[in-house]
Amino acid sequence: MREAPADNIFGKILKGEIPSTEVYSDNHVYCFLDLYPQNPGHTLVIPRNYSANVVEADESDVFTCLRVVRKLIPAVKAATGAAGVSVLANMGRDAGQMVEYLHFHIIPRHPGDSISMYELGEQQTPEQLAEMAARIRAEL
Ligand code: AMP
Repeated sequence: MREAPADNIFGKILKGEIPSTEVYSDNHVYCFLDLYPQNPGHTLVIPRNYSANVVEADESDVFTCLRVVRKLIPAVKAATGAAGVSVLANMGRDAGQMVEYLHFHIIPRHPGDSISMYELGEQQTPEQLAEMAARIRAEL
Protein backbone atom coordinates (compact mmCIF):
# COMPACT_ATOMS: atom_id res chain seq x y z
CA MET A 1 0.00 0.00 0.00
CA ARG A 2 1.52 3.36 -1.03
CA GLU A 3 1.21 6.09 1.58
CA ALA A 4 0.56 9.70 0.67
CA PRO A 5 3.22 12.33 1.37
CA ALA A 6 3.06 13.27 5.06
CA ASP A 7 1.55 16.71 4.39
CA ASN A 8 -1.20 15.42 2.07
CA ILE A 9 -4.59 16.33 3.50
CA PHE A 10 -6.39 13.19 2.32
CA GLY A 11 -3.47 11.08 3.53
CA LYS A 12 -3.93 12.70 6.93
CA ILE A 13 -7.65 11.95 6.81
CA LEU A 14 -6.92 8.28 6.07
CA LYS A 15 -4.56 8.10 9.02
CA GLY A 16 -7.11 9.79 11.26
CA GLU A 17 -4.79 12.75 11.83
CA ILE A 18 -7.54 15.16 10.83
CA PRO A 19 -11.27 14.51 11.23
CA SER A 20 -13.59 13.40 8.47
CA THR A 21 -17.14 12.13 8.25
CA GLU A 22 -17.26 8.61 6.89
CA VAL A 23 -19.98 7.48 4.53
CA TYR A 24 -18.55 4.10 3.58
CA SER A 25 -15.20 2.30 3.80
CA ASP A 26 -13.65 -1.05 3.08
CA ASN A 27 -10.12 -2.46 2.67
CA HIS A 28 -9.58 -0.57 -0.58
CA VAL A 29 -11.49 2.71 -0.40
CA TYR A 30 -12.54 5.41 2.02
CA CYS A 31 -15.60 7.57 1.30
CA PHE A 32 -16.36 10.74 3.25
CA LEU A 33 -18.30 13.96 3.02
CA ASP A 34 -16.73 17.01 1.45
CA LEU A 35 -16.19 19.62 4.17
CA TYR A 36 -16.98 22.45 1.71
CA PRO A 37 -19.69 20.82 -0.41
CA GLN A 38 -20.87 22.20 -3.71
CA ASN A 39 -24.27 20.87 -2.63
CA PRO A 40 -25.28 19.04 0.57
CA GLY A 41 -24.33 15.37 0.31
CA HIS A 42 -21.21 16.05 -1.80
CA THR A 43 -19.19 12.87 -1.25
CA LEU A 44 -15.55 12.00 -1.98
CA VAL A 45 -14.26 8.51 -2.81
CA ILE A 46 -10.54 7.80 -2.44
CA PRO A 47 -8.46 4.64 -2.68
CA ARG A 48 -6.39 3.68 0.35
CA ASN A 49 -3.45 3.15 -2.02
CA TYR A 50 -1.97 6.59 -2.73
CA SER A 51 -1.71 8.19 -6.15
CA ALA A 52 -1.90 11.83 -7.17
CA ASN A 53 -4.52 11.54 -9.90
CA VAL A 54 -6.52 9.31 -12.21
CA VAL A 55 -3.66 8.78 -14.68
CA GLU A 56 -0.95 8.03 -12.13
CA ALA A 57 -3.18 5.64 -10.20
CA ASP A 58 -3.10 1.87 -10.61
CA GLU A 59 -5.95 0.90 -12.93
CA SER A 60 -7.33 -1.37 -10.25
CA ASP A 61 -7.67 1.58 -7.85
CA VAL A 62 -9.59 3.56 -10.47
CA PHE A 63 -11.92 0.64 -11.15
CA THR A 64 -12.42 -0.04 -7.46
CA CYS A 65 -13.28 3.59 -6.78
CA LEU A 66 -15.74 3.67 -9.65
CA ARG A 67 -17.38 0.47 -8.45
CA VAL A 68 -17.97 2.19 -5.11
CA VAL A 69 -19.09 5.41 -6.81
CA ARG A 70 -21.78 3.35 -8.55
CA LYS A 71 -22.81 1.83 -5.23
CA LEU A 72 -23.01 5.22 -3.51
CA ILE A 73 -24.89 7.19 -6.17
CA PRO A 74 -28.37 5.77 -5.40
CA ALA A 75 -27.82 6.31 -1.68
CA VAL A 76 -26.64 9.91 -2.17
CA LYS A 77 -29.62 10.61 -4.41
CA ALA A 78 -32.08 9.09 -1.95
CA ALA A 79 -30.55 10.89 1.03
CA THR A 80 -30.52 14.32 -0.64
CA GLY A 81 -33.57 14.15 -2.88
CA ALA A 82 -31.39 15.00 -5.86
CA ALA A 83 -32.55 13.53 -9.15
CA GLY A 84 -29.07 13.84 -10.66
CA VAL A 85 -25.42 13.74 -9.65
CA SER A 86 -22.17 14.85 -11.22
CA VAL A 87 -19.26 12.41 -10.93
CA LEU A 88 -15.95 14.20 -11.36
CA ALA A 89 -12.23 13.67 -11.02
CA ASN A 90 -10.23 16.84 -11.47
CA MET A 91 -6.69 16.46 -12.72
CA GLY A 92 -4.23 19.31 -12.39
CA ARG A 93 -4.49 22.76 -10.84
CA ASP A 94 -5.89 24.25 -14.05
CA ALA A 95 -8.84 21.86 -13.73
CA GLY A 96 -9.41 22.89 -10.13
CA GLN A 97 -7.63 19.96 -8.46
CA MET A 98 -6.76 21.31 -5.02
CA VAL A 99 -5.80 18.04 -3.36
CA GLU A 100 -3.14 15.89 -5.01
CA TYR A 101 -4.69 12.57 -4.10
CA LEU A 102 -6.90 10.65 -6.51
CA HIS A 103 -10.52 11.28 -5.61
CA PHE A 104 -13.88 11.06 -7.26
CA HIS A 105 -16.53 13.62 -6.41
CA ILE A 106 -20.18 12.60 -6.23
CA ILE A 107 -22.08 15.90 -6.30
CA PRO A 108 -25.88 15.90 -5.94
CA ARG A 109 -27.38 18.20 -8.57
CA HIS A 110 -30.60 20.18 -8.62
CA PRO A 111 -32.25 22.07 -11.46
CA GLY A 112 -30.69 25.51 -11.93
CA ASP A 113 -27.85 25.01 -9.43
CA SER A 114 -24.27 25.86 -10.27
CA ILE A 115 -21.11 24.21 -9.08
CA SER A 116 -17.53 25.42 -9.25
CA MET A 117 -14.38 23.36 -9.20
CA TYR A 118 -12.41 26.50 -8.32
CA GLU A 119 -14.30 27.63 -5.24
CA LEU A 120 -15.08 25.88 -1.99
CA GLY A 121 -18.68 25.61 -0.87
CA GLU A 122 -19.84 26.68 2.57
CA GLN A 123 -18.00 24.88 5.36
CA GLN A 124 -20.25 22.39 7.15
CA THR A 125 -20.49 21.96 10.90
CA PRO A 126 -19.71 18.54 12.40
CA GLU A 127 -23.43 18.24 13.20
CA GLN A 128 -24.48 18.92 9.60
CA LEU A 129 -21.93 16.40 8.34
CA ALA A 130 -22.94 13.72 10.84
CA GLU A 131 -26.61 14.13 10.00
CA MET A 132 -26.00 13.88 6.25
CA ALA A 133 -23.65 10.90 6.59
CA ALA A 134 -26.24 9.06 8.68
CA ARG A 135 -28.86 9.71 5.98
CA ILE A 136 -26.60 8.37 3.23
CA ARG A 137 -25.48 5.34 5.26
CA ALA A 138 -29.10 4.50 5.98
CA GLU A 139 -29.70 4.21 2.23
CA LEU A 140 -26.75 1.83 1.61
P1 AMP B 1 -10.36 18.91 -5.84
O1 AMP B 1 -10.54 20.40 -5.99
O2 AMP B 1 -10.91 18.13 -7.00
O3 AMP B 1 -8.93 18.57 -5.51
O4 AMP B 1 -11.25 18.50 -4.62
C1 AMP B 1 -10.81 18.58 -3.30
C2 AMP B 1 -12.04 18.60 -2.45
O5 AMP B 1 -11.65 18.37 -1.12
C3 AMP B 1 -12.79 19.95 -2.47
O6 AMP B 1 -14.11 19.72 -2.92
C4 AMP B 1 -12.73 20.41 -1.01
O7 AMP B 1 -13.92 21.01 -0.60
C5 AMP B 1 -12.49 19.10 -0.28
N1 AMP B 1 -11.81 19.23 0.99
C6 AMP B 1 -10.74 19.99 1.30
N2 AMP B 1 -10.36 19.78 2.58
C7 AMP B 1 -11.21 18.86 3.09
C8 AMP B 1 -11.35 18.22 4.36
N3 AMP B 1 -10.51 18.47 5.38
N4 AMP B 1 -12.33 17.32 4.52
C9 AMP B 1 -13.19 17.04 3.51
N5 AMP B 1 -13.11 17.60 2.29
C10 AMP B 1 -12.13 18.50 2.08
